[in-house]
Amino acid sequence: MISEDWREVLDKAKSISEEIVTTRRTIHSRPELGYQERETAALVEARLRELGIEHRGGVGGTGVIGLIQGSRPGRTVLLRADMDALPITEESPEAYASQNAGVMHACGHDGHTAMLLGAARILQEGRTDFAGTVKLMFQPAEEGGGGAVKMIQDGLLENPTVDAAYALHVWHELNTGALMVRSGPLLAGANSFTITVTGRGGHASRPQAAVDPVVVAAQIVMALQTLVSREVDPSVPAVVTLGSFQAGTAFNIIPDQAVIKGTVRAFEDGVMEHLESRIEAVATGVASALRARASVEIHMHYPPTINDEAMVELAGGVVRKLGLGAVPGEPLLGAEDFSYVLQRVPGAMLMLGVKNPDWVEPRPVHTARICLPPRP
Ligand SMILES: [Zn+2]
Ligand SMILES: [Zn+2]
Repeated sequence: MISEDWREVLDKAKSISEEIVTTRRTIHSRPELGYQERETAALVEARLRELGIEHRGGVGGTGVIGLIQGSRPGRTVLLRADMDALPITEESPEAYASQNAGVMHACGHDGHTAMLLGAARILQEGRTDFAGTVKLMFQPAEEGGGGAVKMIQDGLLENPTVDAAYALHVWHELNTGALMVRSGPLLAGANSFTITVTGRGGHASRPQAAVDPVVVAAQIVMALQTLVSREVDPSVPAVVTLGSFQAGTAFNIIPDQAVIKGTVRAFEDGVMEHLESRIEAVATGVASALRARASVEIHMHYPPTINDEAMVELAGGVVRKLGLGAVPGEPLLGAEDFSYVLQRVPGAMLMLGVKNPDWVEPRPVHTARICLPPRP
């Protein structure tokens, strides 16, 4: 019985590991940004069709839902994979490196999708051994696009009603073979924001006739560094990062505008709200003091990812039975739209170690280095 003998499931997974790796590499070589995952979704649908798994595409944009029915009626468990890539140029000599310029699977979503297809095969072939239904969720646009929300709006959690939900996310700070099994807060709440600084362009030799938005935006970047360090309790986690600063086209032109993009992360709603309102106040205040204007737009706001204690215990038990390492870990300031699923049904996200302990240099997610060859 698969439901009793977890070892058997692990052995089955090992026996199809080559297939899972091949699928991962195929997806890795053809990365697509959020809501553009047409080729990836087509691959997922083709595989589900091959396996004889009932499925529906075009959910929440480019999402796919699959349903595996056990041999007896029972509850429904959802398993999630995300399919989108990031706007990063890959630096890798591997044959399976990205073929789509400027786009790369740098967050491991290629692996998540391949692993869920592997799990789908094992569950489908062993469906006479379990009761209830497994719902497979292949979602678009996790990286800031809120694909999970779109799928929920499109009926993800109904027909059949989902009773529990699980997801894995690869994590580069955890050794391969270990899983971070943590109950309660796992990932932070996060938003993204854009600050547009408008000055008045002119010739580089005549700053007195212009209002230089580059200098104003630089002051805003520095002023925002004081929010976490001076306004948030040092014992409470919070981050403000400005990941993009764009202005100008040439060395001798003062441009009209500078655009800063950033993110705020925190676990407590009060801290998030404080930082959001202060970003606006600091940006507009600094700009007006320096004769420019700033407008602040807050975009997608992901809630914190909170794991359910009982669901974590259940998953942790399986991890231990399989003889894999389960570590409690500390909350991380990354964010996930799986949080929207966990707001509605009990469940958990586990972080899956992908770090080779021999690596000399770290290979973090969201960098071009994550998929360099195995040797350091
Ligand atoms: Zn990511
Ligand atoms: Zn991710």
